[in-house]
Amino acid sequence: MSNYAYRDIERKIVLYSSQAIKEDRNETFYCPNPKCKAKLYICAIEGSKSAYFRATKPMYKHILNCPFGTSSSEFDKNKFDESEFVFNNAIDGLLVVTGNPKKEKKIDGHSIGEPRAHPLRTIKQIYSMCKSMPANLKYGDKEIGEMLLDDRSEYRYPRGCFGKKIIEAAVKGKLYDNKKKEIYLVAPMYSQKYSFILSFFDEITYKTIRSEIYNNRDKIIVVAGEWKSSGIYNITRIYGRKQVAIGK
Ligand SMILES: [Zn+2]
Repeated sequence: MSNYAYRDIERKIVLYSSQAIKEDRNETFYCPNPKCKAKLYICAIEGSKSAYFRATKPMYKHILNCPFGTSSSEFDKNKFDESEFVFNNAIDGLLVVTGNPKKEKKIDGHSIGEPRAHPLRTIKQIYSMCKSMPANLKYGDKEIGEMLLDDRSEYRYPRGCFGKKIIEAAVKGKLYDNKKKEIYLVAPMYSQKYSFILSFFDEITYKTIRSEIYNNRDKIIVVAGEWKSSGIYNITRIYGRKQVAIGK
């Protein structure tokens, strides 16, 4: 499911599901991922005005790990307050130490009154938003391509990945080094142009994230960091579990 798709196989003419008209319901659209052969159709969400693109024909499903075929690409804009979203602040909120998962208490989220839209907070929310529209569009204070390094935005990172960014990564070859407490990834997913090093200082956080990535090593790995780059190698400190998510 995705919130945008293309009318043409060259992927030049974009259509947002929010702007689709009745006539578009009979049309075939192309997945935003040029590597993907999916044919998409506009579908309405039951009981809602929103619509989305779905690969409804069994012959033309999304390819394995297509970022536009997973639930990560479902993003409901209306649930969040875009005007309050400042990307760097959101990343700062992720670069924090998290405690031992076994000892952490569940916080009771129940509160009185109407739920109010708040800005995006979690890495999954930010990643979903980034995949829900083309990389040259702006959300909050930045363009998508400035927030997320993926195959769509790679051209904007000719010298590597610097500063506060989210990456759409994959596992390739050696995954970790226990002595150094490092995890190794490549990104973007298809071009795999850059190598990424996640550097840990805390053993529990290292082991927790190492197993999470290892158990999902065939999937999309999303990482938020404050990156330093030597060109080919890009490194970030991992403070806690909020910095890593599995795209599925
Ligand atoms: Zn696809």
